[in-house]
Amino acid sequence: MTGQPDGAPCVVVLGGGLAGVACAHRLGDEGIPVTLVDRHDYHQFQPLLYQVATSQLPAEDVARPHRTIFREHPTVEVRTAEVTEVDVEARSLTLAGGDVVDGSHLVIAAGGRAEYFGVPGAAEHAFPLYSVADAERLRLHFRELFVSAGKDEQALADALDVVVVGGGPTGVEVAGAFAELTHALAALGDIPRPGRIILVDRGTALLGAFSEKSHRYAQERLTKEGAEIRLGTGVAAVHPDRVELDDGSVIPTRTVIWGGGESAAPIAAAAGLPTGRGGRIDVRADLTVDDDHPHVYAVGDVANIPSKKSGRPLPQLGSVAQQSGRWVGDNILRELDGKPAHPFEYKDKGIMAMIGRNAAVAEVGKYRHQVEGPVAFAAWLGVHAMLLSGAHSKTDAFLAWAWEYFDRDHAAVVESSTTPQRIAWGDDAADEPHISVEREPRSVDVGHP
Ligand SMILES: Cc1cc2nc3c(=O)[nH]c(=O)nc-3n(C[C@H](O)[C@H](O)[C@H](O)COP(=O)(O)OP(=O)(O)OC[C@H]3O[C@@H](n4cnc5c(N)ncnc54)[C@H](O)[C@@H]3O)c2cc1C
Repeated sequence: MTGQPDGAPCVVVLGGGLAGVACAHRLGDEGIPVTLVDRHDYHQFQPLLYQVATSQLPAEDVARPHRTIFREHPTVEVRTAEVTEVDVEARSLTLAGGDVVDGSHLVIAAGGRAEYFGVPGAAEHAFPLYSVADAERLRLHFRELFVSAGKDEQALADALDVVVVGGGPTGVEVAGAFAELTHALAALGDIPRPGRIILVDRGTALLGAFSEKSHRYAQERLTKEGAEIRLGTGVAAVHPDRVELDDGSVIPTRTVIWGGGESAAPIAAAAGLPTGRGGRIDVRADLTVDDDHPHVYAVGDVANIPSKKSGRPLPQLGSVAQQSGRWVGDNILRELDGKPAHPFEYKDKGIMAMIGRNAAVAEVGKYRHQVEGPVAFAAWLGVHAMLLSGAHSKTDAFLAWAWEYFDRDHAAVVESSTTPQRIAWGDDAADEPHISVEREPRSVDVGHP
């Protein structure tokens, strides 16, 4: 047990993503003891996962060890372990192996996972893109496919076609990146023709949450990159060598990338709290879980956080995660000062997607002003540098890398995908994260409505 017997505060945080790290930072800044538990010894930055999957960045560059992040926060203790149980009455976590960590406050920041909506074969054969390990697994799979095909034209043709499920930002970004990758490989003569990249979505437009102008922009840009867009039809089943669609058509492919939805991390259901849309914990305006547990909070992707304006849940975005994590830190500090907790106020940074080289779209400001191309990329960069600054101190290294990424011809980069351009973070060589491509444990995989 790590709780403080003398009644002094000690905050237990489950999850070291954007939300958990922001919360622990805020409390650590004030010298409050925090125990942060994550199954990985590193924080992962999801917005750059498709760069890892398409060999544009090494996995190490989008993952940073928690111990490095909290080097200057001596009151933050990091434990690397799978959490198997959450007890909201005791404000405790049980770790695989049996240890129990408890505290005066509990913050659940366990994030989400890919949601397959029961599509047969999807969990077994599709590639999710939710973690660094997912991205690395996808990169290795794709590389293995075309390396093992060798010069056999038919085998290569079979190997290169990719189906992307979901026309939201993740699907659009990953489709753009794969279209660009296979075009670059074809231009270099490594493969006889670019692979077919087919994006499938049940809806009537790409980037559904954006304006019509952005829908058109995304459609035009992706088509120009060589991707095929199949709207108005869903995926009925995924097999190792093909995908069946609702409209009865079949697409031969060995690579199905799942950007079709997400739900809460399985541990959310194990907490026994009321859950809503996507199996997420429904939190109150001040981010506490309910009346009965005033010292238990949920933040980031694992929670349905009501918008102060509309009351509807805020989207699963990095800025919502980071701001809500920090807000909970503030609320705990207020509480320790004998003040009431504040209702969460989200500062909306807008919505944006990077579709490929020189192609990005953003909707920013109160009236969701739509911008495209380099201006949109600059907006994307500003927001993402802010997000990264929670885990990385040197955002200038990211900015330098990103401008070059946006601007240059990728063909030269993917030519040797074993040595992609790196972000010069300047961390100690000893500070490498321990990334394993093993699938994450599914033992606490509890269903939800
Ligand atoms: C491919 C992709 C691209 C994205 N792009 C953007 C973007 O461009 N802009 C944007 O704003 N947002 C983007 N997002 C969304 C954004 O990344 C998330 O909203 C944000 O990272 C959520 O942060 P979090 O801390 O809530 O969860 P996470 O970052 O998922 O962190 C949760 C942590 O909890 C740990 N954990 C979970 N369960 C357990 C357990 N049982 N035991 C131990 N540890 C556990 C996990 O290991 C993980 O480290 C993207 C998401 C994805 C998947």
